[in-house]
Amino acid sequence: MERNFSQRADAIAPSVTLAIDAKAKEMKAAGVDVVGFGTGQPDFDTPDFVKDAAKQALDEGFTKYTAAAGIPELRQAIADKFKRENGLDYKPSQIVVSCGGKHSVFNIMMVLCEEGDEVIVPVPYWLSYPEIVKIAAATPVVINTGDETDFKVTPDQLRAAITPKTRLFILNSPSNPTGVVYSPEEIKALGDICIEKGVLIMSDEIYEHLLYDGAVHKSVASFGPEYKEHTIIVHGLAKAWSMTGWRLGFIAAPEAIAKRVSALQSHSTSNPTSFAQKGGVAALTQPMDHLEGWMKAFTERRAYAYDRLSSMPGMSCYCSRGAFYLFPNISGTGLKSSDFCARLLEEENVAAVPGLAFGADDYIRISYATSMEQIEKGLDRMEQFCKRLV
Ligand code: PLP
Repeated sequence: MERNFSQRADAIAPSVTLAIDAKAKEMKAAGVDVVGFGTGQPDFDTPDFVKDAAKQALDEGFTKYTAAAGIPELRQAIADKFKRENGLDYKPSQIVVSCGGKHSVFNIMMVLCEEGDEVIVPVPYWLSYPEIVKIAAATPVVINTGDETDFKVTPDQLRAAITPKTRLFILNSPSNPTGVVYSPEEIKALGDICIEKGVLIMSDEIYEHLLYDGAVHKSVASFGPEYKEHTIIVHGLAKAWSMTGWRLGFIAAPEAIAKRVSALQSHSTSNPTSFAQKGGVAALTQPMDHLEGWMKAFTERRAYAYDRLSSMPGMSCYCSRGAFYLFPNISGTGLKSSDFCARLLEEENVAAVPGLAFGADDYIRISYATSMEQIEKGLDRMEQFCKRLV
């Protein structure tokens, strides 16, 4: 047979973060004392009040199909969240709940992009963005940023990257993998250019609640009606409620986009899991009291890890202000990220994600969503490793 797979399938690179996580788990299962810095999820459990709501839903037999775009109660709770926290008025018909934020991104690309379209993706990027753009047959166009500019895209860079083919600009603040948080002024300046040029913005705000050092989150949609008309917000329950396995993400978008996303989803996954959605309602309607303890722990770990990484031979570190990642520059060690991470795992049993996976080969991603004890142990080992290199 001449052709085995579609071009679409052959163009996709598997998720490196999931692969590293799997490798670290495999080593652990084989009895190796591995320290994992690869994880993209909080090490805390889903809050009980969320679990209880899902358990109750199961007990009450809430186990059947729901509306493809999500139950009205959850879409209303999401609309209320945007009003309460972001000052944004969305009708439930502008909200679509999907099986994770990743699924939301997938749906958006499939609905908005086609062959010949360009999607602007700042580097370092969350690794699924360019792959999903390619699945949608569009072309990712990268804008390079580095720690010397705090990993931020400047208005001039954005302007220069836009062509008549540009369909979407992807904005992710707070960011995975860098933890950078754009200021409201910076966000507005990028939004202004998109409005001027008729480019839509996909604003991924999934790390909205995880902020440090007085950083503030402001959605680009909230600067006025025109900004909102140009923006699709992607969000989800994975990070701030530790619900990664529940698979609940959502978008808020202009009605015409939401309608098409909903239609697309109705022919693929249909609804997100019925009883998980009831957990989602609880998450979005109850106070986020759990977050106080989590943020205290994240703040301590971040400060410790930042100090340690900054003083390691061959490394320098940008001090992130969001999410739960640090993205140190390893260029002083003489290694590129894949070699660095492969050797670190092999020689010191420490798993970190190579920056190459995020388009930035001089960096590695360290997730501090693990215990302080593990962080200390892992960074001790990493320090030994760097000392041998430099
Ligand atoms: N967006 C960003 C920037 C992420 O880092 C992630 C998860 O790692 C997601 C979206 C999607 O998360 P999920 O599909 O688990 O909701």
